Amino acid sequence: MSENEKQKESACNSCSSESCGAKTQRKDEADQDYLDRQALAQRMCKIDHKLFVLSGKGGVGKSSVAAGLAVALASSGKRVGLLDIDLHGPSIPRLMGVRDARAETDGESIIPVKSPEGVSVMSVGFMLQGKDDAVIWRGPLKYSVIKQFLKDVNWGDLDYLIIDSPPGTGDEPLSVAQLIEDADGALIITTPQAVAISDVRKSIDFARRVNLPVLGVIENMSGFVCPECGKRSDVFGAGGGEDMASDMGVPFLGRIPIDPTLVTSGDAGGLRAYISGDTAGAKSFRAVVDELAKILGSA
Ligand code: ADP
Repeated sequence: MSENEKQKESACNSCSSESCGAKTQRKDEADQDYLDRQALAQRMCKIDHKLFVLSGKGGVGKSSVAAGLAVALASSGKRVGLLDIDLHGPSIPRLMGVRDARAETDGESIIPVKSPEGVSVMSVGFMLQGKDDAVIWRGPLKYSVIKQFLKDVNWGDLDYLIIDSPPGTGDEPLSVAQLIEDADGALIITTPQAVAISDVRKSIDFARRVNLPVLGVIENMSGFVCPECGKRSDVFGAGGGEDMASDMGVPFLGRIPIDPTLVTSGDAGGLRAYISGDTAGAKSFRAVVDELAKILGSA
């Protein structure tokens, strides 16, 4: 220890000011955050593309689209990770067919759960004691859990890490945007309905404010074609997502129709069979993946 450091230490030890102790603690926390971020950057640099999936509103199919895209990419031979940061309502374990899995560690890192199609999945759902347990956490704790998911999970080498955020512009998407500085950008999920569109504009504004490029808008639940008579009904309206994307100057990546088989496949954790099928919904997922690959230059 240098003479200067010794003097500082003895001054600190003799100081009874509470604010001085608090200052030291704050410095220790800042040092730890710096070290954590370095470890996190080392994990993230092995991942080619990091994509955030956002929506303005709940129930527009954000998690279903995030899971469907992960499966579609994995089915086309890509190495894919799927991180569920919807801490209060994690639905990714069920959608990915791994709802009974538990997170395990190898002593140093948390091992992601492998879905049947080989996607590396991590979710708070793998850590809850009971399936119906509620998570009641405030912002700082959410930040540290999300940091742990990024830093302590052994993601390995991946082509894509897809991050499913809860709806809105709260602590979770903000934390992840602060923690991953080199993300490719955000995919914004909406339905064509005006009430969803007005909220999704806020998600685009959020992305812009945190310097996250908007890769594009995906319009989900876009029309329903009756399997009996073939008649199309625009249950939530039509084209609202595309009009909003053009209005806000962001790319439009495509439409996914209302498809009852997506619901049953998701509930049963069987998205792989669904995505490789020939329903209009499955084809639209594959078309969105093609569009995305073009935008990312990873086709
Ligand atoms: P969010 O993550 O936005 O809350 P979810 O992905 O949980 O939404 O989807 C909400 C509900 O809508 C689920 O029951 C899901 O199966 C259903 N769903 C999502 N997308 C579609 C679709 N394209 N066709 C039919 N049902 C869908």
